[in-house]
Amino acid sequence: MSFERMQKIPSADEIIRQMPLDDELRRMKARRDEEIRALFTRTSNKFLVIIGPCSADDEGAVCEYAGRLAALQQKVSGELILVPRVYTNKPRTSGAGYKGMVHQPNPQEEPNIVEGIRAIRRLHLRVVRETGLTAADEMLYPGNYPYLADLLSYVAIGARSVENQEHRLTVSGLDIPTGMKNPTSGDVTVMLNSIQAAQLPHVFSYNGYEVRTPGNPFAHGILRGAVNQYGQSVPNYHYENLTRLAEQYRKRKLSYPTIIVDTNHANSDKQFDQQPRIAREVMHSVGASPVLREMVRGLMIESYLVEGAQAMDGRIFGRSITDPCLGWEDSERLVLELAEMVARMH
Ligand code: PEP
Ligand code: MN
Repeated sequence: MSFERMQKIPSADEIIRQMPLDDELRRMKARRDEEIRALFTRTSNKFLVIIGPCSADDEGAVCEYAGRLAALQQKVSGELILVPRVYTNKPRTSGAGYKGMVHQPNPQEEPNIVEGIRAIRRLHLRVVRETGLTAADEMLYPGNYPYLADLLSYVAIGARSVENQEHRLTVSGLDIPTGMKNPTSGDVTVMLNSIQAAQLPHVFSYNGYEVRTPGNPFAHGILRGAVNQYGQSVPNYHYENLTRLAEQYRKRKLSYPTIIVDTNHANSDKQFDQQPRIAREVMHSVGASPVLREMVRGLMIESYLVEGAQAMDGRIFGRSITDPCLGWEDSERLVLELAEMVARMH
């Protein structure tokens, strides 16, 4: 084995003891989790919007973003639940270089995972404390989930992880909604298998223990578009894609069958400024079909303070260093428009 042990990583219990969530915020988080779960159990007619940067690369910019989102949430509280994307372990698509804040708390410096774990917990704590909005994160590394388990209200399993047994089993022990993306191949049966596996109880090995999980009834699907054999994007947000998936989903007899549509990635071909048009089209499809109205419950949008993306060493505050994002003004306009569209459907 050629593994050089660099440093011992503290356990989640140790880190949480050093950086706890206070009781008042814990109660607030529980209330918000209930509110979000209500969308899945159909006791609420609101629409979920998971929105924020591709990667949470900079604590200051992410907190500024989440603060603006919290103000916007006040204006749309009757129609939408806004969940900030605070994605702390987002690697580059090619796998080379940056692997997210958990590896590199400072993107310009060497990786330091112990500092990274503290940095991601500090960031999520700050977002909750300053905005009252508990966030979404992607679960790249299942073993790391306990470091943030008391803070997250939504988890996503990425297109490249969704076929992985370890991810599926870990989701079966989460008690918050977890979105399983379609794989990059676009095969939605893989996504449905993954949802099915995550909804079942399991016994498996997790972080040094044999554990038992009850199954997660809130595991659901996220459509993010596909990539064909030539590396070209093939969208899957159109009416026909949604209705076909709805039919396959129903046949599985899963709990709370729910679809979220990701408006960026292979759905926009990373043309970030197409996201408002795609979001509108999805809402139009939802309005046109009672089946979709029942099943399509949210959107995922990549958005940051400044539109587009910059190089890793770019210095523009609040501009993505991974996938290109919609800028703040366009995002705010889009969220207000979505709230109006939802209000008309009620
Ligand atoms: C993302 O959500 O930023 C992302 C890269 O997702 P996917 O796993 O769909 O590529
Ligand atoms: Mn992205």
